[in-house]
Amino acid sequence: MQPGEWPRRLRAVWDEISEAGKNEPIATGNVRPVLQLGDPLLREKCARVLDPTEPEIAELVRDLSETLAYWRAKTGYGRGIAAPQIGVLKRVIFLKLPGVEPWPLVNPQIVHASEEKIVVWDACLSFLSIFMQVERRRRIRVRYQNLKGETLEFEAGDERDLSELLQHEIDHLDGILTIDRVVDVKTICTREEFEKRYRAASPYAVAATRR
Ligand SMILES: [Zn+2]
Repeated sequence: MQPGEWPRRLRAVWDEISEAGKNEPIATGNVRPVLQLGDPLLREKCARVLDPTEPEIAELVRDLSETLAYWRAKTGYGRGIAAPQIGVLKRVIFLKLPGVEPWPLVNPQIVHASEEKIVVWDACLSFLSIFMQVERRRRIRVRYQNLKGETLEFEAGDERDLSELLQHEIDHLDGILTIDRVVDVKTICTREEFEKRYRAASPYAVAATRR
């Protein structure tokens, strides 16, 4: 099985595994525990950040960054993390895509979503042993603030699987988890079974529907 035949999400994961340890020295001083499925804090709605330039937000982003880097080096998984996953109920997410600068997004919101939906395999750092198929919008438009407090907007689609990743992370800010988006509970499986049975055979988007 060639990497080119893998579903894209998993290809991205594989790229990360290959990349892990090569370029990123892992600082562990600010690594925080990642809350696990069942922790009620993961179900809370997070508060808007009033001032993205506050030092407190920079510290939060640093902790998210180091926590994500630590988990990625340890497990090979993780391209994004949301503040509530380390117990901070603020609307901040942090992405680290392979080969791209670290990307903190403050108060991210989806201002437009395509009618077209896709079904993708997904998991979460808060339950890394469970995989399932979920439904996402194919393309979205996101507005957010950077750490300077500037408001920015961009389109996300299939490239780098950015659209589904952002939907996953922004959901966290409203206490919504991947399991809430499962298309069929019968797709839920362990990581081991997923990798053994579905990783090679499953197309990235098993279905695309217009509604
Ligand atoms: Zn998650």
